Amino acid sequence: MNDILPPDSARWEWLESKVRSLMERYAYRNIRTPIVEPTSLFVRGLGEVTDIVEKEMYSFEDRLNGEQLTLRPEATAGVVRAVAEHSMLYDGGKRLYYMGPMFRHERPQRGRYRQFHQIGAEALGFPGGELDAELILLANALWKELGLHNVRLEINSLGQPDERKAHRAALIAYLERHVDALDDEARRRLHSNPLRILDTKNPAMQQIVEAAPRLIDFLGEASLQHFNVVKAILDANGVSWRVNPRLVRGMDYYNLTVFEFVTDQLGSQGTICGGGRYDYLIEQIGGKAAPAVGWALGVERVLELLKEQGSAIPPVTPDVYAVIPDAAALPVAIATLERLRAHGVSVQMHGAPASGEGMGSMKSQFKKADASGARHALVFGSDELARGMVLCKSLRDGSGAQTEHCLDSVSEWASTLQFSS
Ligand code: ATP
Ligand code: MG
Repeated sequence: MNDILPPDSARWEWLESKVRSLMERYAYRNIRTPIVEPTSLFVRGLGEVTDIVEKEMYSFEDRLNGEQLTLRPEATAGVVRAVAEHSMLYDGGKRLYYMGPMFRHERPQRGRYRQFHQIGAEALGFPGGELDAELILLANALWKELGLHNVRLEINSLGQPDERKAHRAALIAYLERHVDALDDEARRRLHSNPLRILDTKNPAMQQIVEAAPRLIDFLGEASLQHFNVVKAILDANGVSWRVNPRLVRGMDYYNLTVFEFVTDQLGSQGTICGGGRYDYLIEQIGGKAAPAVGWALGVERVLELLKEQGSAIPPVTPDVYAVIPDAAALPVAIATLERLRAHGVSVQMHGAPASGEGMGSMKSQFKKADASGARHALVFGSDELARGMVLCKSLRDGSGAQTEHCLDSVSEWASTLQFSS
């Protein structure tokens, strides 16, 4: 679990603001659900035989009523619970997005944390492949917006439950013939969740897995048609994709389209975003049946990839640093700063240091002003104040140019201090 400190936190805010503006353009609305949910929601929603439910959840007992609670390991189950609880689909489909921390008890390593952050988008109440495609286009637009490259799209179709059932029988028969080559986990899942064996990260099992019966060969007409709709829309929008028949994803709730955005630049934790259709989840957790599709991206991994690719985001600096030589000037100075802020100017006030006396020397105040990255210093010297004026020094253009401004007419000169002006 990490602390996110300035200046690094500015990268987070930058990413989040890009996401917000993009979600607005696709008409996705923000939803905020609790971080703690009943454990049963995740067990029912994600599936009992999944990595998350088997070993990754932070669960505890409510000390008052003994209810089993869990820190959310992902947000889709909570979103779906909220959608059902508030009958949000009564007047048609909804497009939603969220951002926030998730918790999984995993072995910490690069790109894998115990508290990490996801941004996710969900479209609920729409059955068509065009929504799957819209969500993929939305993620793809985000990579463009962030200046991210070398991200490839892998897609697959998991079909419908009856198709999966036929494939499952064939898969179990195949795996039983090769049971000697399976690891302990795979053997344990052989009859409970054989599809997940295809998702193994054990290199010793890759060959077995590669030659296993492919789900896509068991799909019927309607499932293939749904998949074709998605692919055609991606093609029409110049988004390249590759069908990865082994892409099954970590949760049980998916059907039809699943997809991941993957990079080779983050070592073995190369999936930055994953999602798919989950038409049966809402009913599964006790809501009225409704189709849905969504994705979630890992914020840490996206930021790490941006760093890896050398992307620089503009530093966050104040417009103005207020140099206040004498504490006696504080009331008048701060009243001026407040008026500047009301006019949209960002202002950092010099703070008297813990060591030493008073406000600190002019030299140390200007040093701080330079370090802040401000473009201007406003100097509240006693001579100028006596005349109702304040001195403005340019810090960044090397000219050292000085101007005087009248304290009574802030509105007339405030905008000249702003970066954008
Ligand atoms: P993985 O196969 O890497 O464990 P997952 O299938 O468990 O991923 P999802 O549940 O689909 O991942 O979550 C969506 C995204 O969230 C992932 O693609 C990844 O970018 C990010 N993510 C998942 N787990 C972590 C973690 N422990 N730390 C950081 N990011 C994570
Ligand atoms: Mg995982």
